Amino acid sequence: MNTDALKKINIIQGDITRLQVDAIVNAANESLLGGGGVDGAIHRAAGPELLAECRTLGGCRTGEAKITGGYNLPARHVIHTVGPVWHGGSRNEPELLKRCYRNSLLVAADHKVESIAFPAISTGVYRFPPELACRLAMETVISTLPQTPGIKQVYFVCFSDRIYHLYEQLKSSGGRDVPDRQLKDKK
Ligand code: ADP
Repeated sequence: MNTDALKKINIIQGDITRLQVDAIVNAANESLLGGGGVDGAIHRAAGPELLAECRTLGGCRTGEAKITGGYNLPARHVIHTVGPVWHGGSRNEPELLKRCYRNSLLVAADHKVESIAFPAISTGVYRFPPELACRLAMETVISTLPQTPGIKQVYFVCFSDRIYHLYEQLKSSGGRDVPDRQLKDKK
């Protein structure tokens, strides 16, 4: 168990747009031009300058991450990453989701980010099963943090009780122990 990484992980409930951290992560779409859910909330709170900067980025592929300013947000930066749409698990969705967390942390480290907050990427409109999504998120953050020593605090921001309890359960078991049944449950 990587206890140093686990000590940096915080699980909180609330609205990610309110957090005063160096960077918040946006669960964006490939256009980076805004959408619903957390993406819409972030653009509304950041103001039109965020969209103007996003227009210069040329989109973002699934699993990749791009950084912008935070504008009217309390956060200094927004890291935009594009989670996979869940199609039953046979289209590389788990690996793509892991890349979102890993690439977001690597981009954050390049910009001297010390505190970063993630929403539960792909668990909304993109329909990724929450149990699997939270386990992959926790495992990937734990395995990447040793390579990004400048990152001191990671927040998993939970909008629903269900996601909050999943993360709490995962953290108390050291990032493991949630059954793998979702992987076998392909449509
Ligand atoms: P995706 O398209 O990647 O599924 P969504 O925005 O639909 O993205 O949902 C991702 C997760 O973000 C969901 O768990 C949703 O409940 C959560 N969420 C929505 N709004 C916020 C917010 N303001 N702060 C934190 N989490 C949020």
